[in-house]
Amino acid sequence: METAIITRPDCIFCSIASGSAPCAELYADDEILAFLDIAPVNRGHALVIPRAHYANIFEMPPELGTKLIRVQQQVGQAVMDATKANGLNIYMNNFSAAGQVVFHAHWHLIPRFTDDNLRLWPQHAYANLDEMLQLAADIRQQLG
Ligand code: AMP
Ligand code: ZN
Repeated sequence: METAIITRPDCIFCSIASGSAPCAELYADDEILAFLDIAPVNRGHALVIPRAHYANIFEMPPELGTKLIRVQQQVGQAVMDATKANGLNIYMNNFSAAGQVVFHAHWHLIPRFTDDNLRLWPQHAYANLDEMLQLAADIRQQLG
């Protein structure tokens, strides 16, 4: 028996997944879709999404992860080959505080070039080792 795919009528990525909104498609199967981002960081910037609507990674069934990684590998390699990129960033925004704008889980595949002058976020040191170890303990406690 086929399981119905969860979709949201107000979601642009659900519309793309159902074919009612256009996209520059790169890959499609029953569960996963990849297409070019309409506003690329670099040419070839692609998005990989589950067809079903999950707002973010925390709502997604982890079983989908294996297929999503396989598609990220295949599409990521093809994007790198087609754009002659030297590297590839794969990342995901979850919740608006992290920069998420489209609330349908998606991974960004961004081809990188040695001379593209893009900088990732600045990093900071912990005040001291105790602070770092205490935070690790707090996180482990949340893991249960
Ligand atoms: P995020 O900030 O992680 O939610 O990223 C959403 C991404 O979706 C942005 O990079 C947008 O440029 C991209 N985007 C939004 N609408 C479309 C669309 N119709 N087709 C392709 N990409 C889109
Ligand atoms: Zn959706």
